[in-house]
Amino acid sequence: MPPTSAASPAAASGVAAEAARRRTFAVISHPDAGKSTLTEALALHARVIGEAGAVHGKSGRRAVISDWMEMEQARGISVTSAALQFEYQGHVVNLLDTPGHADFSEDTYRVLAAVDCAVMLLDAAKGLEPQTLKLFDVCRHRGVPVVTFVNKWDRPGMHVLDLVDELDQRIGLTATPLNWPVGEAGTFHGLLDRDDETMTTFERAPGGARIAEEQLLSAAEAKERYADAWGTALDEVSLLDTLDLETFHAGTSTPMLFGAAVVNVGVRQLLDALVELAPPPSARPDAEGTPRPVEAPFSGLVFKVQAGMDKAHRDRLAFVRVCSGRFERGAVVTHAATGRPFATKYARTMLGRERETIDIAFPGDIVGLVNANALTVGDTLYAEGSPVAFPPMPSFAPEHFVTARTTDTSKAKQFRRGIEQLAEEGVVQILTSNRRGDGAPILAAVGPLQFEVATARLGQEFGVPIALDSLPYGLARRTDADGVALLNAEAGVEVAERRDGALLALFPDKWRLASVQRRHPDVALEPLVAGA
Ligand code: GDP
Repeated sequence: MPPTSAASPAAASGVAAEAARRRTFAVISHPDAGKSTLTEALALHARVIGEAGAVHGKSGRRAVISDWMEMEQARGISVTSAALQFEYQGHVVNLLDTPGHADFSEDTYRVLAAVDCAVMLLDAAKGLEPQTLKLFDVCRHRGVPVVTFVNKWDRPGMHVLDLVDELDQRIGLTATPLNWPVGEAGTFHGLLDRDDETMTTFERAPGGARIAEEQLLSAAEAKERYADAWGTALDEVSLLDTLDLETFHAGTSTPMLFGAAVVNVGVRQLLDALVELAPPPSARPDAEGTPRPVEAPFSGLVFKVQAGMDKAHRDRLAFVRVCSGRFERGAVVTHAATGRPFATKYARTMLGRERETIDIAFPGDIVGLVNANALTVGDTLYAEGSPVAFPPMPSFAPEHFVTARTTDTSKAKQFRRGIEQLAEEGVVQILTSNRRGDGAPILAAVGPLQFEVATARLGQEFGVPIALDSLPYGLARRTDADGVALLNAEAGVEVAERRDGALLALFPDKWRLASVQRRHPDVALEPLVAGA
């Protein structure tokens, strides 16, 4: 039997049991809501690290996970994604990191294709922010269930019922709080546990470096100590719906929890909720829509590709989410796009720069494959003899466009190779337009920082100096071959072809688009929806 196969009934049931105890999720938020802080706090609770502050390198703390690129360090932002795995209460938790800066949201969108659940982190003072809304849309589109964590409750913020209303009114999501703050934001006394109407108070650890000591109060004790605030909390929460697993998993309700990640308050409760309520890995539909059960032989989805973190030898790393079966390092798997074998001798788990060899992985786990030059984002791998192809990864609607050329004409070949590599990794999208006689590719991005990454990478890894010229477009629509000539004849409009063959019509703004649409109602101009 090939090592990746889960063909025998005993092996299959082993895989099903391993899958059932996995929880694979990502935290999504608007920048500054506290994602890095929460990641540290979650890891601390799972006792992966002895002291909070070891995960992310903010404010002089020791960096472990992120910033492999100099630019990241210089700017203090996280450009790449990595996964953190830990055991908690008999479960295996895979927490996928997502970049903090909105310009790299395309990367976050791809991570959302590899998780079974998302934690939507809100700043208690700000509620839903633009990036939260965009990311939530992607979750809805992909059917990813969302747990909501209201952070920074130690500081003054919005009224708690207004937050619930906002979820309902602006994104149509019914909040089903699992706990409820006793005391307004800023005068926080503790959390009311809705299950048994007890109250937990917290002895905050200085600087959040330890887990906050908890004290459990009965309802009678809570009433005695926090008379008014306790009564208000009970009244408020009684107005709201209670947990409903079915609608949570269907993405129409969201379990809601409160806390303050920076002092480790409410974090244990969040972790408990995730392992108890979030869905485990389940059958994933293939490109035809047929679900592949988790106990089927090995299959995995490449959701992220990046240049090697090791500058000494330029390798390419592919992050694969195991979708079904048992992954064993050393097994030869098949690359669906080419039908070629791919050797997994060098499989790794990734924790920032630190690599650890991984030998076995199950559905929901993330495996880093080195020497992955043949793999691109969206690719499927499967156990020999058990083919499957998952749907391609969606590309997102770019809003920034530049042309790129190398300023060193002797580097034309490296330039083309480098551009190709960046496109395969999804650093930027590459378009070509017949209208450009010099053949200069158009780089398209969701956020302009992507261009800076591309420029830095081409310089550092390929030794190619490049110059960018910005193009006056801010909007793309998908068109078809019939529309090309008409659209290209319009002033200020250009049609370019993306690597995947899609024809994108580029417009300066929505007004220009509207006037072209009015004149040519029959020309196809489909929006490129985020996540579609
Ligand atoms: P990210 O950009 O979402 O990763 O946010 P960070 O984790 O870097 O946090 C942004 C800022 O909010 C930092 O200054 C944190 O110390 C602060 N912060 C995070 N969580 C809390 C919290 O629970 N309470 C308070 N008061 N500040 C917090």
